[in-house]
Amino acid sequence: MNYKDEDKRIDNSSGYERIDNFDEEKTEKLTELYREILLTLGEDVNREGLFKTPLRVAKSMQYLIHGYNTEPAEIIRSAMFKEEYSQMVLVKDIEIYSLCEHHMIPFIGKAHVAYIPNGYITGLSKIARVVEAFARRLQVQERLTVQIRDCIQETLNPLGVAVVIEAKHMCMIMRGIQKQNSVTTTSAFTGAFLRETKTREEFIHLIGQKLH
Ligand SMILES: [Zn+2]
Repeated sequence: MNYKDEDKRIDNSSGYERIDNFDEEKTEKLTELYREILLTLGEDVNREGLFKTPLRVAKSMQYLIHGYNTEPAEIIRSAMFKEEYSQMVLVKDIEIYSLCEHHMIPFIGKAHVAYIPNGYITGLSKIARVVEAFARRLQVQERLTVQIRDCIQETLNPLGVAVVIEAKHMCMIMRGIQKQNSVTTTSAFTGAFLRETKTREEFIHLIGQKLH
């Protein structure tokens, strides 16, 4: 199979693809560059533990930003269902593993996403898929929050969308000011969540509740 065609292919029925094979040319080039980086850092690239590291990093970096090969809006459009339900739909505690674009160091945390349907709902797993599709890129938490909100608003056209992300940034924890326990919270709202304090408060109350 020609790997390059495979690499760029997006499954249009679902809008996302699994990456478990890698662009050969890109992998080769990255391996070379990571080897160069290790050398520049003063490492012995021929010692046992490091010998295959450039190749491993080349593959893992491609995996960590595989969200660029996804079409988040398609993920939702592939599973939209007409439904009269018009109360808040909330998906809590969606795990986030992203890379801060300033340091290329992970930030990890949780996203809470809610919407109020306006004739259409989507599969619950699709919400988590959308979060994943945007998180697996070079990101800042602020933009990630807004992209998730806008994607859901523009596809489902609900009465409102709410997104809250809480994350720990390894670039703050491991380097620089070394604030070990700081958590960054970002939020973005549309529609009813913006206009109606009560609706927003209900959302905030629900994401704070422990039901399990
Ligand atoms: Zn950073």
